[in-house]
Order: sequence, then structure tokens, then C-alpha cells
Amino acid sequence: MEMKYVFGPVPSRRLGNSLGINPIPLKTCNYSCVYCQLGRTVFLKNERKEYIPLDEIKNELDYYFQFTGNPPDYITIVGEGEPLLYSKTGELNNYIKDNFSPPLAFITNGSLLYLKEVREEIMNTDVLLPTVDTVFPDSFIKINRPHKGVNLNNILQGLIDTRKDYKGKFWVEVMMVKGINDSEKEIKGLSDYFNELKPDRIFINVSVRPPAEKWVEPPSIESFHLIEKYIPSAEFINFSESGKIDPSAYDSLEDLIVSISRRHPISMELLKKSVITDEKSIDKSVESLEAQKKIELIEHSGKIFIRGLR
Ligand code: SF4
Repeated sequence: MEMKYVFGPVPSRRLGNSLGINPIPLKTCNYSCVYCQLGRTVFLKNERKEYIPLDEIKNELDYYFQFTGNPPDYITIVGEGEPLLYSKTGELNNYIKDNFSPPLAFITNGSLLYLKEVREEIMNTDVLLPTVDTVFPDSFIKINRPHKGVNLNNILQGLIDTRKDYKGKFWVEVMMVKGINDSEKEIKGLSDYFNELKPDRIFINVSVRPPAEKWVEPPSIESFHLIEKYIPSAEFINFSESGKIDPSAYDSLEDLIVSISRRHPISMELLKKSVITDEKSIDKSVESLEAQKKIELIEHSGKIFIRGLR
């Protein structure tokens, strides 16, 4: 069966072997983050819709769990854009919780959690991972380049309201971008906000995959010292993923490479380390996919990354 919306499991830095679900068409988002690993947002939308028929996602999940015998550590909803724009999120989450045993993680930019009805849809997840890059509106516009219908104060308050009722693990992530959110004022602002929000964990990330804008760089070492000073509980996650990718869930190795790299650009090095097959087959598949223009190869931080194309 061709899997269009369910992919992996892929090694994830925080979630082990994670079976991904993508309920959103490629690059449909209410942000266009300068660091986005999927490239610039093509469809800047703030409208919630059933972008993909819910039944198709359910069928793929049923198929995966019936035929692969490879239980993931987590099932993770992570879009090729912002997954909370999917209007059937509540139904999808209920279906997963009612039918499959791995814990459910939800990765979101958090922008719609100020809406009570949206908050209610994610309350039965096991881990919620919203992003907060800044508490200052001018930096928010520079980093996240949001849809005009998105308001930072609503978002910050929405996360606080969500946190109060949420029973699962609440992990926030900050993506640091040199020259925008790496100053003392920015880091202190985040620290004050996190003292009020009280997340279970705070992850500080830097762009380890090719960003939407080439000028995006990790902050300098001074900023990391500032983070250690103001946010001592922060965890740095710019380390590599570990885990294995089993090709048996895919029709072919080429299928696997396109499917994973479209959502999650992956370095050649990690692909060879993770996929249970020989390196020559990977080299051959990558060469063929590049010739067919199904993937592109990008150099970033001294490594070659594969990004899947439509
Ligand atoms: S990083 Fe996430 S929130 Fe930002 S543009 Fe990409 S998909 Fe949207």
C-alpha cells in the first residue's frame, strides 16, 4: 500500500523511533519560519480544514499496525505544515488513542491553542511540543513571518491556558537564530515567560538541517552562556538522532527515501546509519531519485542533506 500520510518510523531526537502522521499538504502553514527545514511556506493559510480525508489517514494507520509488526516508540502528529490547521485533529487523536497502544505526541507551532475548541482537541495526547521562539512581536515577525491573522499575545496566553489543563508532558522548543532571538533581552524575556508557563521540559534547538533562508545561522557561544544563566533547566538538542529505519514498511527503498526526506530532510550520513540496508543500494537510489528530480541534495554544515520534492 502506498503510504501518503503515515511515514517512518524515523529516528527522532526526543521521541525515539517515531511513526509520523502528516495531516497537512506540503508547506501549508500559518507561519513561514526562516529556519523551516521544509523551505519557504507556499500556502500561507490560517484556515482550519479537512485538507486530507480523515478516512485515508485512518486506513494507512490500520494498514501499518496490521502488516508491519514494527511498533514505534511514539506515534507523532507532525505536519508538512502546521498540523492544528487540520480541522479533524480531535477525531484523528481519538481514533489513535482508541485503537493503538504507543503514546501519542503532537508537534505544533502552538498558534491556534488560544482557541478553546482547538485546545480541547489535543488534551488526550501524551506529549505536546509547542514552539516559542520569542516573546517580542517584532522578532516574532522576523523569525516566524506569520499570517496576518496570527497574534503573538494570543499565542502566549493560549499556551498558558493550555498548560493549566493539559495532563500529558508539556515540552516547549525554542529555535535560536543568530541576530534575532539570541540577545540578552530576548533570552531574559523567554525566561520570564517560561517561569509563568512552567513547561515540563525546555529544548533549545538550532538549525541542523538546511533552513528556508540561507542566512540563518546558529547563535554564538555567548548566547548559550546566556541561556544557561537565565534558563538553567534548558536542554540543548543540536545532537544527532539515533535509531533504525525499517524499509519493510515501504514498497521500495526509493519510496522510503522520498517519503522520509519530504517531511524530514535527512543527511546522507544519517540515512546510511539508520536504514537497515547496504550503503551501495542507498547511493544508487539517491542517484536515481536525483536524476528523476524526486529529491534535491543540499549542502549544510559540511554535510549533504536529502530533501524530498513533489
Ligand atoms: S517550522 Fe513549522 S511552523 Fe514554521 S513554517 Fe515550518 S512548518 Fe510552519
